[in-house]
Amino acid sequence: MYPDRVVSGMRPTGAMHLGHYHGALKNWIKMQSELPCLFFVADWHALTTHYDDPSIIERSTWDMLVDWLAAGVDPSQSTLFIQSRVPEHAELHLLLSMATPLGWLERVPTYKDQIENLSNKDLATYGFLGYPLLQAADVLIYRASQVPVGDDQVPHIEMMREIARRFNHLYGKEKGFEEKAQDAVKKLGSKRAKLYNELRTEYQQDGKEEALEQAKAMLDDAQSLSMGDRERLFGYLEGSRKLILVEPQARLTAASRLPGLDGRKMSKSYGNSIALREDKATVEKKIRTMPTDPARVRRTDAGDPARCPVWQFHQVYSDNATQEWVVKGCKSAGIGCIECKQPVIDAIIKEQEPMHERAQQYLDDPSLVRAIVADGNDAARKMALETMRDVREAMGLAYS
Ligand code: SF4
Repeated sequence: MYPDRVVSGMRPTGAMHLGHYHGALKNWIKMQSELPCLFFVADWHALTTHYDDPSIIERSTWDMLVDWLAAGVDPSQSTLFIQSRVPEHAELHLLLSMATPLGWLERVPTYKDQIENLSNKDLATYGFLGYPLLQAADVLIYRASQVPVGDDQVPHIEMMREIARRFNHLYGKEKGFEEKAQDAVKKLGSKRAKLYNELRTEYQQDGKEEALEQAKAMLDDAQSLSMGDRERLFGYLEGSRKLILVEPQARLTAASRLPGLDGRKMSKSYGNSIALREDKATVEKKIRTMPTDPARVRRTDAGDPARCPVWQFHQVYSDNATQEWVVKGCKSAGIGCIECKQPVIDAIIKEQEPMHERAQQYLDDPSLVRAIVADGNDAARKMALETMRDVREAMGLAYS
């Protein structure tokens, strides 16, 4: 029906580190060659938790964009933009808020978790409660079909789907829908119209999912239909509503998790991170001083990689042969910890080399990043406006 699209964003609340790279960015880089992707700096989202200290947001926004480009996000393949430069996100957020039950927001699992985790901040705010609804607007405004997420974010996607469904149910009603839909069926040509009606009956009377899929595929191929007629016929297949917003699917990311230097989640606030563009000497120093299995007090003490954060780095960075060498050498005290850490240091430095190279041109000429983002803002806004035209019309706000 609508083209496949991926939407994903990150909050500009500090420097990007290798945990972000392995947890999300690598996946973005893979997806950008598979599907049209929109990647945005979620600056409004950053304000939901950093409303009392916004100083970090502007600087982090530009640093983060350089990090994305350095990591390999390709502006000729993806659209890069800043959320607040596409104000239609806020308009859709407001309009969705009119019909979103409060309970849906309060039951989002991460809402309570975050309030507990960030107990040093007062998050009893309207903006923080509405955070998942703003996320829904960010995705629904592009009629995105896929959103890359980790397991913990799946409930957010479920809520986005419920919001889209509710919106279509409430506002997809159209005066004379049945007649308009039947006129649109005739435009398919007699053979396809007959098939459409048969498949619709099979789905609505017998619940045959294959019939629904076959009919959708047929509509995808029907080039002669206008966008409005196409939406009507998609909606008519399942009921008597137009489909204005698209229900996105969660695309679960099998990202490898790189822990922090101390084995906890990598986070700048824990002081256990390696920046995406960290210089070589600092990488070396940070890995060399990483804690290891506490049982290895002396070089001659045997250890166990399962108790050592360095081993978790090997699992991300080392091939099978090196991993075997680590396990054997650690358990038999055949290798020392400094020796064990060297392949990790080498691998990180090697991984970062092309990042430093790619970043340099943007550091030398920051106007390049501004230009990429200006183009991305325009392109994103154009897509957002297509949806907003339909949303405004459906909600009685078109006034033209
Ligand atoms: S040898 Fe390697 S895996 Fe074993 S404790 Fe030392 S750093 Fe950790």
